[in-house]
Amino acid sequence: MNKPVILCVDDERIILSSLKSQLVQTLGEEYRIEVAESGEEALEIIEELIEQKQELPLIIADQIMGGMYGDELLARAKKILPDTLSIMLTGQATAESVGEAVNKASLFRYISKPWNEDDLTLTIRSAICHYKDQRELKRHECHQEILNQVLQLALAPMPFEDRITQSLAVILSTECFRSLNKGSIYISDREHEDLVVVSQINRGIAPDNQGDFDTNDKQIRLIRTPASSDTAALTYYRAPIILSNKIFGFLYIYVDNRHQQNIQTTGFISSICHTLAGMLRLAQYNLALEKHNTVLEELVDQRTSQLNQALRKQEQLNDILLEANQKLEYYATTDELTGLMNRRSFFNRADQEAARAHRYGRNAMMIMLDVDFFKEVNDSHGHHIGDKLLAKVAQVIKANIREHDILGRVGGEEFAIVMPETDLKEAHEICERVRLAVSETNIEVEGTAVCVSISIGMSEIRRDELSIGNAMIRADQALYSAKHKGRNLISVN
Ligand code: GH3
Ligand code: MG
Ligand code: MG
Repeated sequence: MNKPVILCVDDERIILSSLKSQLVQTLGEEYRIEVAESGEEALEIIEELIEQKQELPLIIADQIMGGMYGDELLARAKKILPDTLSIMLTGQATAESVGEAVNKASLFRYISKPWNEDDLTLTIRSAICHYKDQRELKRHECHQEILNQVLQLALAPMPFEDRITQSLAVILSTECFRSLNKGSIYISDREHEDLVVVSQINRGIAPDNQGDFDTNDKQIRLIRTPASSDTAALTYYRAPIILSNKIFGFLYIYVDNRHQQNIQTTGFISSICHTLAGMLRLAQYNLALEKHNTVLEELVDQRTSQLNQALRKQEQLNDILLEANQKLEYYATTDELTGLMNRRSFFNRADQEAARAHRYGRNAMMIMLDVDFFKEVNDSHGHHIGDKLLAKVAQVIKANIREHDILGRVGGEEFAIVMPETDLKEAHEICERVRLAVSETNIEVEGTAVCVSISIGMSEIRRDELSIGNAMIRADQALYSAKHKGRNLISVN
């Protein structure tokens, strides 16, 4: 067993052996007691202990010695082993030398010779306690620092494999693993090919890693493999990386063969493994998220193209609808046979014009036209010839009035005109022109020309009239009178 060492230094052999025997008696079970008769010898022993990696919690030194004095020895020892505590045990030390030792060697306590045995034992025990607390605090700080670094790696923007590799390097830089700097991390998530990682430093492969998965052993274990003919003895920690109660991998850390498993190191490794498991969980989430995004993008593309198709269809439909509406508007307002305004449409426009003339006090004329003896045309030539003639008459009337005159077919062979901004005289001239033109119009049927004439009745639209109703009645009366007088005539009411 490698017990920690307490080093006693005094140039008087009797004192040294009495000190040693007391210490062996009281602390011998836990500590190995080493003695040196001079400061120089003490320094040699310290070097040896360091070489053997032996812990040296305490040096007890005399002050006045031949050669190196106690305060100098303790100051030099402090430089080599900063954690080692020291007690000065002397009869003749000056206050000055004690002060030196306190300042330079952080002297834990000064005890004067001859010492009280109980006091010395108590002092040594409290020094050792202090030493252990210090060591524990340091170790804790070191573990905390390493854990922080690994946590930062967990959140660093880099691929999963790089995170694991860099984490391993950080873990192996921990003080108690640093000397061998040998270890590995295996992670194998069978559901995700991307999450299978083997990272190793200094060929730190665990000999039976495949078997480790099968044992389902969830404890952190310190495993010792004995030396064989071609391999040295090895000691390593095997710690499972557990997620949702399932082992996803292992962390292997090699340690010195003399290493003893302890709660602190096991706790530290456990925290590290939790962090590694967290990294794996994060990587799983990211993978799932990427997959989800791809599916989502595909869906969005698909929906977009469907939407575009629907929009194109809607556009086509709108065009058809627009066309249909235009047709509807045309048929609703237009007389099919003549292409003139139909009765309803004519009344609308004519009433608007009457209202406008009323509002601005303008002239406007109402004209009614009726084809003479049209029944005879139908009777002698057939209805379809009548239709053709009717269409032609409509064309002739339209050609002989003005652009802004409002013309409509208001009955079978009856037409009506509203002439805006027109007085009786002007209207009469236009009507005469129309009457003449119609009377000269004919269509040829089986080699003979079929002719018609029209009778026309006229009336002013009075300025107090808001619609054409009354003016139309008066114009109709005039038309009746024209018929009565012999047809192919214009009559004014
Ligand atoms: P009048 O000089 O007194 O007006 O004699 P008319 O024969 O023209 O008058 P009447 O009212 O007796 O007859 C009108 C005729 O017009 C009767 C009808 O068959 C014909 N008619 C009405 N609408 C149309 C049509 O759209 N096409 C054809 N071909 N004939 C029509
Ligand atoms: Mg007629
Ligand atoms: Mg008629």
